[in-house]
Amino acid sequence: MKIRTRFAPSPTGHVHIGNMRAAIFNWLYARHAGGKFLLRVEDTDRERSTPAAIKTLLEAMDWLGLNVDEAPLYQSSRMDAHLAAAQRLLATGHAYKEDKGGTGQGECIIFKMPGTDVEFTDLVKGTLRKSVADMADFVIVRSNGTPVFHLANVLDDIEQRITHIIRGDDHVENTFRHIALYRALGAPVPHYAHLPMIVNAQGKPYSKRDGDAFVGDFQSKGFFGEALFNYLALLGWSPGDDREVMTRDEMIAAFDLTTVRSSPAQMDLRKLLWMNGEYVRAMRPVEFATLCREELRSINLEIGGNAAAIFSLMQDRIKIRSDVIPAMTFFCTDDYEYDEKAVEKKLLKEGVFQTLEKIADLFQTLESFDTETVNTALHQFVEQGGLKFGDVMPPLRIAVSGQQSGPDLAPVLSILGRAESISRIRKTIVRFNPTSGNRR
Ligand code: GLU
Repeated sequence: MKIRTRFAPSPTGHVHIGNMRAAIFNWLYARHAGGKFLLRVEDTDRERSTPAAIKTLLEAMDWLGLNVDEAPLYQSSRMDAHLAAAQRLLATGHAYKEDKGGTGQGECIIFKMPGTDVEFTDLVKGTLRKSVADMADFVIVRSNGTPVFHLANVLDDIEQRITHIIRGDDHVENTFRHIALYRALGAPVPHYAHLPMIVNAQGKPYSKRDGDAFVGDFQSKGFFGEALFNYLALLGWSPGDDREVMTRDEMIAAFDLTTVRSSPAQMDLRKLLWMNGEYVRAMRPVEFATLCREELRSINLEIGGNAAAIFSLMQDRIKIRSDVIPAMTFFCTDDYEYDEKAVEKKLLKEGVFQTLEKIADLFQTLESFDTETVNTALHQFVEQGGLKFGDVMPPLRIAVSGQQSGPDLAPVLSILGRAESISRIRKTIVRFNPTSGNRR
């Protein structure tokens, strides 16, 4: 059997990561099996499924690299086929008409559930069964003549010859009905894999209220599509060993529905950020340089001399595109902002300005200004003065970068250079020390 999977979203203008994870699992399963991955756009809700909403969907798939193997099927184009099938079900006695409200406004078509229990073996959840007593007949064509989701969904899966339906477990209840429809239509019932929900820290379905929930949010924040793909692939699935950062080929090779967990998967934005940082770390230096330059240029900044040293110092500190500007602006200009809280806590303290003055003087006397020399000089300065690193390094860092954290200070100073480091220290003293005028 040639495996065929599909992603069947209803476009709404936002693509929730839960839907995208279902798409990713379908894609991985098809790729692993050498099968086909298809798209069906369930666009029958004309108010929500606007052309703009469909465009957002296609762009999100493109960004995540979810390529499809056949032209997408648009559900709205299939209404005639859906209605014809309803007529067939009427003709074969699997459906009947009823004036539901009894209002004379028209009849709907109702599917007659078989008089037996329905059971299926879900590839994730195992055997699921529903007793005949719990399954009522249901509408397949409304009195206004439009087909209902269940009918359209099943018929389109038949049309697309889908062999494996991988979707969220909010559809489990529907599946019992769908299986009855397949049987009534004389079509082979596909395999099902229902994915557990993505939940928040409280175990409730993860939503916008918990933080970023739509693919577009992550894209505009500067996450990489590859990293989000990797993260979502591991949300409920694991390769069976402790690998986390995986190439697409590795994920394809390892993917298996039987190792998808049946318990809910908890969304962890911090872990996603870590994962994205791993992708930044793995970038080739020239790619990382381009990423940084692009970001900095967006606010008219250029990395000047020492660019290679700056990039190599920063590559494992940048976790996401949007880190670049806050973390690297001070390398491009001495017009950086000071972290006010850090200034308050670390700079405006007894003796700090005197210490900084001394460091500026010390820097003046050093034979050279390479990392090693600067590092040794600072260590000696602290030890000989009977000072604490915690009282010296943070104010010095704030003075030259405006920030209270960052990469190792000695290489930062060395990259900035002697003259610039001294000038920044003095500039900071003048700016924040009210009495500095007297001593300079
Ligand atoms: N349009 C439905 C949804 O997005 C389809 C579900 C499915 O069968 O995959 O929930």
